[in-house]
Amino acid sequence: MHEAIAARRQEIGRLVMRVGLALVAVWTVIVGVSLAWNIHRQRDLTFELVLNTARASFNKDLAYRLWASSHGGVYVEPTEKTPPSPWMAHLPDRDLTTTDGRKLTLMNPAYMVREMMQDFGTLYGIKGRIVGIVYLNPNNKADPWEEAAIKRFSAMAVDEVQEESTIDGLSYLRLIRPMFMEQSCQKCHGHLGFANGEVRGAVGVSVPMAPYREAETRAVGAMVLSHGVFWLLGLGVIGGLGRRTSTRLIEKAMAEEETRLAASVFANGLEGTIITNADGVILRANPAFFRLTGFTSEEVIGRRPSILRSHHHDDDFYRHLWHGIKEDGYWQGEITNRRKDGSVFVAWENIVAVRDGQGKIRYYIASISDITEKVQAQESIRRLAHYDLLTELPNRALFFDRLTHALSHAARSQKQIALLFLDLDGFKKVNDALGHRIGDELLQEVARRLRPCLRLDDTFARLGGDEFTVVLESVTERQDPILIAERILQALTQPFKFSGRETFISASIGISFYPEDGDSAEELLQHADTAMYQAKAQGKNCFRFYAAEMTRTERKRMELEHGLRVAVDQDPDQFQAWYQPIFCLKSRQVIAFEALVRWLHPTLGLISPADFIPLAEDMRLIDRIDLHVLRLACQNSRTWQKLGYDIGVTVNLSGVDLQSRKLAFEVAGILQETDAIPGKVTLELTEGFVLDLGPEQRRILDDFKSIGLKLAIDDFGTGYSSLRYLKQLPVNTVKIDRSFVRDIACDNRDKLLVSSIIGLAHSLNLSVVAEGIETVDQLDTLASQDCDHIQGYLISKPLPADRVLPWLAAYRTEEAITWHK
Ligand code: C2E
Ligand code: MG
Ligand code: MG
Repeated sequence: MHEAIAARRQEIGRLVMRVGLALVAVWTVIVGVSLAWNIHRQRDLTFELVLNTARASFNKDLAYRLWASSHGGVYVEPTEKTPPSPWMAHLPDRDLTTTDGRKLTLMNPAYMVREMMQDFGTLYGIKGRIVGIVYLNPNNKADPWEEAAIKRFSAMAVDEVQEESTIDGLSYLRLIRPMFMEQSCQKCHGHLGFANGEVRGAVGVSVPMAPYREAETRAVGAMVLSHGVFWLLGLGVIGGLGRRTSTRLIEKAMAEEETRLAASVFANGLEGTIITNADGVILRANPAFFRLTGFTSEEVIGRRPSILRSHHHDDDFYRHLWHGIKEDGYWQGEITNRRKDGSVFVAWENIVAVRDGQGKIRYYIASISDITEKVQAQESIRRLAHYDLLTELPNRALFFDRLTHALSHAARSQKQIALLFLDLDGFKKVNDALGHRIGDELLQEVARRLRPCLRLDDTFARLGGDEFTVVLESVTERQDPILIAERILQALTQPFKFSGRETFISASIGISFYPEDGDSAEELLQHADTAMYQAKAQGKNCFRFYAAEMTRTERKRMELEHGLRVAVDQDPDQFQAWYQPIFCLKSRQVIAFEALVRWLHPTLGLISPADFIPLAEDMRLIDRIDLHVLRLACQNSRTWQKLGYDIGVTVNLSGVDLQSRKLAFEVAGILQETDAIPGKVTLELTEGFVLDLGPEQRRILDDFKSIGLKLAIDDFGTGYSSLRYLKQLPVNTVKIDRSFVRDIACDNRDKLLVSSIIGLAHSLNLSVVAEGIETVDQLDTLASQDCDHIQGYLISKPLPADRVLPWLAAYRTEEAITWHK
């Protein structure tokens, strides 16, 4: 639009410029011709003026002469200047003597004129001259111009000749007329032989042109000036007219362009548009409207927009709509319409009333765009924003919304609300072992199973991960949530089956009450969460009510969580490796040390692994701690080995570590970096983890083996696995859990159990370490059962790294172990 107008503007500009230039040219020619004509007229006038002056002067001279000759000449006293004319010597009465003796001499007209010209020439300014081809006085001899004129007079061709010419470098108008022989002339000139009436010579006058030309130049100057002013005025008028014309033309072009544009917007617009008259009868509709509604022009023109009514809106809606248009002149909003084929669409509609100069409504213009998809998209965005995709339960945001709403309602009606916070037990393990897909299916199945345990209007939401909440409104007694919690726990007791495998899952539930345990959604949730942790701590698969003193435990847990994150991210030196010796019963040597992590918390002091490792596992920080301990263990064992001790090191790995595919790669990196001997490093994995190994984790164990590392199964006996199963794994050692060893000296069943484990392990080529040996009796029993190695306080408690070498030295020299009887 802009470019089209700019181009049109240029075009109009060029046209107006061209016409303007043509007008300027014509105007210039008119003014120029006028000036030239006026100058010419001025020249003619000057000439005429000079001619008239010349004629007047000529006539005056003529009058003098005629008067003189008609009186027979004039006698004057001869003076030196006017001596008797020698050219009239032939006249007898040329000289007279008066009676009183005065001498007089004759002066003829020519003589008189000449005298006057000579003496008073300057007074006159105009020179007069009598000339002839035949003359008395040679001074009167005609010059060539005069002679030519005289000849033309004689031929009777003309009776006057005038011409502007230069005499002595000055410009003059010369006028000459014939002089005829008359009777009065015969007296002096009769002897020259001219008959009366014959051209005897000529009389001329010369008028100097200079003063006239000066006046003329002034007049011409004024003329040029006035014409110049006039010309400029004309240019101004042309310029003004040009500008006005071009503005008008551009305005017209723009108006045309706008009309064209409006028409094309109407015809090609993407929005369906209809124009109705003031009575709402459709006058026009555009193609987009036909496309949108499926109607044709014939079906629409002359009808009313109500053909689109979908009956989704009541009469009130339309009343409002028309009220808006009449009051404000427009209405816009969402409206559900119906197409010709009966299908319904949501439209965004703009209706504008068009008024005439008097303010009367002439037309209504309605533009309609189909926003069905947008509305649907908004709806799905709303769903995404409020619902959990996986389980289709309300998500955290909607949960908070509903809970907040329920709280304000309960506050008004003085009712109780119970909030149940549910966390699946060991979900991470299932997820890690069976894969995320199965984990997702499990969550979906849990959601499906729990829904029927609840009332329809209870809000059941998934906060994320394996955390669910239930909001029970209008709780009358404490029994209500207990019933629900029991139903939930019951519903989960049935096994879950996924691709032929059975899995069990339970949940821990924390319950908080409004208004007892808090009056905000956040507070209630936090307290239910605390209660849930309590349920977990007290054996899982149960529910607990929130009790105020729980917060202490909760606070401690939060403190530890925060501290762990800071330690791992910023200060891993807070984690120390302590070492407990593993003693070989046969060689009676310390063959290795087990590295056991200790966390030196900046304010809480030394924290034992049992207190933070489960948390670190939950927070997925355990792998970084384990690798840190591995690095320390490799470094320290290298130091001991270099000092001559043939001692290995064993390091604990959490099963969670095996979730990272990079684990084997990172372990190999640490071995290389610390220059450790892989055959002297044993990795311990607890039996519980080893039971659920997937193919990925198996591969990691194989990688460890190929690096040359040794593997031990820790806490053997607690996971109820069979040794045969372990045989399929690249394991070298089993460590019998302390709980089996504790009563070995006095309990025959334990003794038998341990002895059969040792026997079976040996048959599978596995070495055996008995853990937790505190007494010599225990040691003796194990020695008699052919156990390979022992570990326990009897040998030594775990030692800080810097105490290992002194311990080793003392131990060697002492050699006073009580068992060594
Ligand atoms: P564990 O691997 O079975 O380690 C043996 C535990 O038994 C150690 O407890 C040790 O101090 C204790 N113990 C050894 N001898 C005796 C005894 O004669 N009597 C008694 N009552 N206890 C004895 P600790 O150091 O508290 O470690 C507990 C558990 O924490 C370890 O059990 C291991 O599973 C885990 N752990 C320790 N360090 C690490 C680590 O760096 N990474 C991982 N993932 N877990 C670790
Ligand atoms: Mg261990
Ligand atoms: Mg153990």
